[in-house]
Amino acid sequence: MKLSSKIFLGMFIPSIVIIIAIVSMLIKSNFNNELDLVRDKSVQEYKNIIENFENNVTEDVTYYTLVSNYKNFFKEKKIYFEYYIDGESSLNSGELTLKNKDLLDVKDNKYNLLIENHDGIHYVFISYKLEEDVLVYYKEIESVYDNYQQNINLSVTLVIILSILLLFVSYVISKLITIPLSNMTKEMEKISNKDYNIELKEGNDEIGVVAKKFNEMSKKIEENENELLKYIESKQMFIDNLAHEMNTPLTSIKGYAEALEKFDLSEEKKVKYLTYIQSESDRISDMYKKLLFLSYKSNVDFEVQDVSIDKVIGIIKDDLKERLDTHNTKLVVDNKCDNFKGDEIMFVMAISNLIKNALNNSDKGTKVYVNTYDKENKLYIEVVDEGIGISKENISKILEPFYRVDKNRSRKNGGAGLGLALVLRIMELHKGELKIESEEGKGSKFILIFNKD
Ligand code: ADP
Repeated sequence: MKLSSKIFLGMFIPSIVIIIAIVSMLIKSNFNNELDLVRDKSVQEYKNIIENFENNVTEDVTYYTLVSNYKNFFKEKKIYFEYYIDGESSLNSGELTLKNKDLLDVKDNKYNLLIENHDGIHYVFISYKLEEDVLVYYKEIESVYDNYQQNINLSVTLVIILSILLLFVSYVISKLITIPLSNMTKEMEKISNKDYNIELKEGNDEIGVVAKKFNEMSKKIEENENELLKYIESKQMFIDNLAHEMNTPLTSIKGYAEALEKFDLSEEKKVKYLTYIQSESDRISDMYKKLLFLSYKSNVDFEVQDVSIDKVIGIIKDDLKERLDTHNTKLVVDNKCDNFKGDEIMFVMAISNLIKNALNNSDKGTKVYVNTYDKENKLYIEVVDEGIGISKENISKILEPFYRVDKNRSRKNGGAGLGLALVLRIMELHKGELKIESEEGKGSKFILIFNKD
């Protein structure tokens, strides 16, 4: 059953039942009151008559004589008497005879009362004992029943009018409640068709609040879906780039290996080709290590240790000595910090990647600076070069995996565009920041910022 029908019936049926119950109760109680009033009035009237009879009765004038004399007088007032002697009706001023003779069984000074229906007309019968006889007073009281019937007819009309009104009100209210819900359902269908352009009317009542939440939810779904699409896109780009980056060195290796196998090459060429094969293999191996780190190590918790920055720089100097010498580059270290908290291997990886980048993107004979210092509860490691610099547009992109400003330059140095993505990941794991400041033609500064704790 539809919600609107449930609300409609839920309002209409109980309301109409309550109205009918109240109206019936009122009519019934009104009728009972009227009936009581007529009874009391009749008894009082009969008492007065009896009192009069008692005052006028003598030895010569019996009750029977009095009733007989006055019967016509009372008949004009629509009051009738039936006189019973020894249980037998001896005198009757009206046309009716008491049906229920139990009424004759009346005690001294008591009034017995009964209502009887004679041919559809109601009469009140009251009996009273006069010495050994019983005098029954009776009178038509149909007006009370007529009133009752009139009230019933009036109430039926009233209930019908109220029902029509209630039908209308219940219908309007059920629609008012369910229209926003139907709108919501329609809007929800839009969501399943990926249309998030939803503007439900908000308000302070329950439905208005649901509409507000619904609007917020659809916006969130849209945001999440966009994020997911971006993520899928970036993953796809990552896979495409990876395939491409793997394919290039593999094709070279295959080419050189085939040449070595098929052609009779000079010793010099053989050494050259083997060196190419080795450097291309190193490239794949380097890429493999970085990718492995990005995909596995990034999800693993590491133990935070006190790392001596002197030690880290010493390791890096040893590792890069050959490259620094070949490049004729001086590494100028200004270390104002003792220890860092974190993972030593990751620190070595991050800083040496930044120094390698500085070398790869600077002319021979320039200097590379490594400065460490602490400021405002934070520790800083800067790697500064006097190289080619990076344009503003590229600064935001170079952190993406496989992105390289100058592909040829990067390839020549064995890079695949993964170094900075790796540094960024390491900084994320250390809950630190990576900042880049650069000016084209002047040089770049890569700043690693850690919280002291
Ligand atoms: P790559 O393996 O190519 O060095 P990275 O992720 O380390 O990959 O760097 C991405 C790109 O950012 C590099 O290809 C280079 O174009 C640019 N880049 C990185 N460091 C520097 C730097 N110190 N000076 C100028 N350009 C840089």
